[in-house]
Amino acid sequence: MLRNLKEFYYPTTVPEALAILERFDSKAAVVAGGTTLGRTDDAKIEAMIDITRMGLSFIKEDKVSLRLGATTPLQTLAKTRKLQSFAGGLIASAAAAQPSKQLRNAMTLGGSIVISTPWSDMPPALLTLDAQMILVGKIDRVIPAEEFLFEPKYRLLGRSEILTEVRISRELAGWRSQYAVFSRTRTDPAMAIASVALRDDGDTCVGARVVLGGITRKASRCPAAEKKLVGKKLGPSHFTAAAKAALAGIDVVADWRASREYRLHVAEVLMRRTLAACWEQAKGVAR
Ligand SMILES: Cc1cc2nc3c(=O)[nH]c(=O)nc-3n(C[C@H](O)[C@H](O)[C@H](O)COP(=O)(O)OP(=O)(O)OC[C@H]3O[C@@H](n4cnc5c(N)ncnc54)[C@H](O)[C@@H]3O)c2cc1C
Repeated sequence: MLRNLKEFYYPTTVPEALAILERFDSKAAVVAGGTTLGRTDDAKIEAMIDITRMGLSFIKEDKVSLRLGATTPLQTLAKTRKLQSFAGGLIASAAAAQPSKQLRNAMTLGGSIVISTPWSDMPPALLTLDAQMILVGKIDRVIPAEEFLFEPKYRLLGRSEILTEVRISRELAGWRSQYAVFSRTRTDPAMAIASVALRDDGDTCVGARVVLGGITRKASRCPAAEKKLVGKKLGPSHFTAAAKAALAGIDVVADWRASREYRLHVAEVLMRRTLAACWEQAKGVAR
């Protein structure tokens, strides 16, 4: 409960929101979908700034990038036709992975990025596509997903800066992809996430982006796995080798849900199957 909350603002522009943030210093918080902030117990917060009326819910393309507004709800990302085809539909698939439609309607892209937990769905997909975060504050900044996601220093970002949009290079538009989650039940947090994108040139794989999430504290690219795929005419042995490489030497999170060994096993199987499914898609074989 926010016991000291006294004021609620609905700015209609980014500069207006930033001015309110500055006025309250660290006593104001930005709220988007409210699915995390609504459950926060932070006695310091005296003002909330709802950023959902500032025109930041959009999906656009310019000559170089796909541009996704920070307050776009996950349900919109999952259902928009353009995103169901861009880069094999990776962004739409990750957004659809959240099983509750009510939550998908509330959760925003920006909130899912600022609050990136090990089981968050959007960060692995954004890492796979080398997305860039656009931050607006005293100075405007562009930060690669790899530097931004899971970094504690950005978790309170809303107190001084606003994430306004995410950009993804259009060069990735034609890549194929697969996003897969393993969890105990549909609504339980992910135990393993595989997010992969492949590009083929006839029979040969000419580009690979492999991201593993859920099993470690933060999702990350797996360059060793990518090396096992690029330049090869892919088959089952390559997917097995790449999945083993992705899991080699990683620091697995174990908790009451499952042991380290079990997590490693399911993550390897998930990664192998996801790579195979992605390659079949890349080769035009019906899924
Ligand atoms: C029951 C439940 C189950 C969930 N399961 C999953 C799951 O399986 N997978 C998954 O990925 N997520 C899941 N989530 C959602 C996730 O944990 C976060 O709650 C959600 O991503 C936050 O998004 P939001 O738009 O509601 O952000 P808010 O709650 O509005 O904000 C969260 C934080 O981000 C800051 N913030 C938000 N937007 C911006 C911005 N544009 N610029 C600067 N700061 C900003 C806020 O100040 C706040 O600190 C679940 C949530 C709940 C309640």
